[in-house]
Amino acid sequence: MGAAMTDVDAVVVGSGPNGLVAAVTLAEAGWRVLVLEAADQVGGGLRTEELTLPGFRHDVCSSVHPLAIASPAFRALGLERDGLRLAQPAIPLGHPLAPGRSVLLHRDVAETAAGLGRDGRTWARVVGGLGRRWERLADGVLDPLARPPRAPLETLAFGAAGIWPTTAVNRFAFRDEPARALLAGLAADATLDLAEPMTTGIGLLLGALGHGVGWPVAVGGSQAIADALVARLRSLGGEVRTGERVTSVDRLPSAKAVLLDLTPRQVLAVAGERFPDRYRRRLERWRYGAGVFKVDWALDGPVPWVDPALARAGTVHVVGTAAEAVAAERAVARGRVAARPYVLVVQAGVADPSRAPAGKHALWGYCHVPHGSTTDMTGAIEAQVERFAPGFRDRVLARHVMGPAAMEAHNANEIGGDIAGGSSDWRQLAARPVLSLTPWATPDPALFLCSSSTLPGGGVHGMCGRSAARVVLHRLG
Ligand SMILES: Cc1cc2nc3c(=O)[nH]c(=O)nc-3n(C[C@H](O)[C@H](O)[C@H](O)COP(=O)(O)OP(=O)(O)OC[C@H]3O[C@@H](n4cnc5c(N)ncnc54)[C@H](O)[C@@H]3O)c2cc1C
Repeated sequence: MGAAMTDVDAVVVGSGPNGLVAAVTLAEAGWRVLVLEAADQVGGGLRTEELTLPGFRHDVCSSVHPLAIASPAFRALGLERDGLRLAQPAIPLGHPLAPGRSVLLHRDVAETAAGLGRDGRTWARVVGGLGRRWERLADGVLDPLARPPRAPLETLAFGAAGIWPTTAVNRFAFRDEPARALLAGLAADATLDLAEPMTTGIGLLLGALGHGVGWPVAVGGSQAIADALVARLRSLGGEVRTGERVTSVDRLPSAKAVLLDLTPRQVLAVAGERFPDRYRRRLERWRYGAGVFKVDWALDGPVPWVDPALARAGTVHVVGTAAEAVAAERAVARGRVAARPYVLVVQAGVADPSRAPAGKHALWGYCHVPHGSTTDMTGAIEAQVERFAPGFRDRVLARHVMGPAAMEAHNANEIGGDIAGGSSDWRQLAARPVLSLTPWATPDPALFLCSSSTLPGGGVHGMCGRSAARVVLHRLG
């Protein structure tokens, strides 16, 4: 490490959204904080780069931010004071069922329900109802430290519906394809077999937030969120150093607390000898989930969707029917690549024209693949988009692809291409990374975990970081 900032209260290892929110939370409490980041750019899963051609700004990892806009941590920080602007697409989400026929998730519940036919009332009651109370829902689901729980009724209602496998809900609660496909596409974000318990929960949460707060993108790219967090941290006297890969916590400047924005395998590598055998074994048993294969495209114009409504959607779930989504995710969960994968596409330019030169588009897309897969999914992903947007390939000026190994090289937390810091199945949602009321603390009183491998899990919400920082302040402050 270079010239050390020696006089610090806390060192945060890793500058992902959780590391930065943890750092800001501690700095707001008057602590002197140093953040050490291995990469040359801050942000972890928030980085934005010109991956294809000059002038095309691509979100390397996260791109859509319903969790950030709803998060209690981000709401409290008010990052617009540090220059952050979020932009809303006209329609949060589109999901083509067949060429020319789509189901749409609008901000407006009634408009969404109108597209769901006989299932519209159920959707409006359950998903729309949660969306109306999004603030309490987000507090209940994303803030596991709140005691007593801040929104017990919303959390219970969410849990009672969310605990079920998506396949069961689709069989018993919905009658027609549009609602089934919409829910399956939302739930597939969990990167699990949709017959697994609790997969409905992620679908409900994302659907409800679509109604409640929308699915915005960050103007200029997700990097703007990291930059705003760094600006806030610096204004509070904190320091961030990039290009500083930490290999052992023993070589850090002395501090009251060290917070690791790392997943269990990396925690063991940098601090394993500090822990008793029992805790070490629990971290060793941590399971990583499926990976992603990502493609970023520079396009000569918008995606030529057969259904023109899709041109106004920020995010498009490209897979077809609910059964196709179930089959795609089941294949991945069983260790195979899907012939017709579930593809998440984000057309950030719909809301933020700054992403590409005038008339051009920067398009983002990925599908799930088995952990560490080396299969090139470019053809399969493009074939899925082409199904609903014939002529898409002709608009491609350049493409940039990243399989699991490239994702992990970009960000060491993305082990085997896993973007959530470990599988989010029901066992690891409860025990994240260990079963404890304060899973951010470790047996070493000075060492804490703050990554998405802790509660409440993956996504850009900063709540793992805020919770970890609060535990630090409670114990050592
Ligand atoms: C392709 C993709 C798409 C996604 N899409 C979305 C989305 O649209 N919306 C959403 O909400 N979420 C999305 N996510 C998930 C989101 O990006 C992550 O859940 C989030 O970034 C996790 O934050 P974190 O702070 O826990 O870790 P990370 O953001 O992974 O940050 C960890 C940081 O630690 C650094 N680091 C690792 N090892 C060391 C070391 N030894 N020394 C120093 N630094 C180290 C890394 O370089 C990295 O900067 C996506 C992720 C990917 C990969």
